[in-house]
Amino acid sequence: MPEVRTRIAPSPTGDPHVGTAYIALFNMCFARQMGGKFILRIEDTDQARSTRQSEQDILDSLRWLHLDWEEGPDKGGPCGPYRQSERSDIYKEHVHKLIDSHNAFYCFCTEERLDALRREQQENKLQPGYDGLCQALTLDEVKSNLDKGMPHVIRMHKPRRGTCVVKDMLRGDIEIDWAQVDMQVLMKSDGMPTYHLANVVDDHLMGITHIIRGEEWINSAPKHLKLYEYFGWEPPVFIHMPLLRNADKSKLSKRKNPTSIGYYRKMGYLSEAVVNYLGMMGWSMPNGEELFSVDDMIANFDINRVSLGGPVFDTEKLDWLNGRYLREKLSDEEFMQRFGEWAFNPEVLHQIVPLIKPRVERFTDVAPLAGFFASGMPAIAVDSFTHKVISQEDSVKILQFIAWAIETLPAWHRDRIEGLLMGMAEQMGIKIRDFLFPVFIAIAGTSVSVSVIDSIAIIGKDMTRARLRHAIELLGGVSKKGAKKLESDFRQLTLEGLGAKDTEQGE
Ligand code: GLU
Repeated sequence: MPEVRTRIAPSPTGDPHVGTAYIALFNMCFARQMGGKFILRIEDTDQARSTRQSEQDILDSLRWLHLDWEEGPDKGGPCGPYRQSERSDIYKEHVHKLIDSHNAFYCFCTEERLDALRREQQENKLQPGYDGLCQALTLDEVKSNLDKGMPHVIRMHKPRRGTCVVKDMLRGDIEIDWAQVDMQVLMKSDGMPTYHLANVVDDHLMGITHIIRGEEWINSAPKHLKLYEYFGWEPPVFIHMPLLRNADKSKLSKRKNPTSIGYYRKMGYLSEAVVNYLGMMGWSMPNGEELFSVDDMIANFDINRVSLGGPVFDTEKLDWLNGRYLREKLSDEEFMQRFGEWAFNPEVLHQIVPLIKPRVERFTDVAPLAGFFASGMPAIAVDSFTHKVISQEDSVKILQFIAWAIETLPAWHRDRIEGLLMGMAEQMGIKIRDFLFPVFIAIAGTSVSVSVIDSIAIIGKDMTRARLRHAIELLGGVSKKGAKKLESDFRQLTLEGLGAKDTEQGE
């Protein structure tokens, strides 16, 4: 039997998600238990959305959780490079093989034509998808279009009829009608591959034997299987894991639950408790023990024991588990050490000290001034928001607008945050001092504090989002009806030019 090789293939387009860590954990356990290797590949073919910062954050978060890979962009390995943006030539070569074997075709359809087609399909309640017009082009027509430099993509052929059977190790045979599958674009007009092409080519070239990924990819599996067939490659074994869910069973989303790994780190959870909790998502120890380490998990791992009912990522249960770790697993000595590492993280302190130093006379002044950086949600009440100009309703509006606006920020930089808040205050016709009042309360718990803009930059997007939401809920939240009105008011703001719409890369 060949060596077992598993992988995670995150796209570096945002905050490191707990779902990525969850999938990484199961891939790692599976590989280790089989004496195989676990690989990390960065899928950054979406150049407009991928950032190096996000890649770095993903790697840091996984390292914090001790989810360790044998090969990856940081470590190298025999199948590198492990970043898709550095593998363009490989995809070009492969897509041309598909053209030559008549399994893929050039498509010169314009956006306008595709939009009109989509609208027509919607109106007639037909399955959306490409209609195959360019499949009929002769070789000469294709050549002449290419010679003229006409913009084009490359699409894959697919069967018109019949069903595709996706064999899933956990789910058995999943049947998907080919009629529901699109003639997928494999290479975009800018010459970059789509996820589907790059993913299949890399999984093959990197020798991946088992693909363990989230169930949201099931519908892509027919295209992937077809590509393996077209290339004449043996497909790997597929295992689609159940999605993590909010308490109401909807797909885990940052609007309802903090989803970024960084948030849990900043909130003072132990990495081993977070990993343990992720291990409980759809899986359990054969002896029913709830506290287990990664090593325990590997020693007892059996992928067939993953249960498919959507596991709920419940922060209260995580609190309970983390509490048990703090009380039962750490000696006083260890507690002291771990707490010290968390609270006096030099990276964070370097940012905080310049803010508080000018305002203190004794060390005893430090904790009251800086305590909110190391706290969870500030201890605030509705009364904390009483202000001579800003009503409670204004506070909700300001906080909600900021919560929405920060999601559009491409980079988490002090100056961009400042530009965004100043611009919003101006457009809302509120003096910046008054505008920032509820922000101070939500973030620092008091208006007598160091610069709130610097504070937001330091605590990060995930913690800012959580504190804004905490304050909004405290103030009574936003009703469904209220949300509609707020959203339409929000859309009136022009956030462009405030740093919010800029997609500049590499910061
Ligand atoms: N890049 C995909 C993601 O962001 C990988 C999906 C897969 O594992 O095939 O999740």
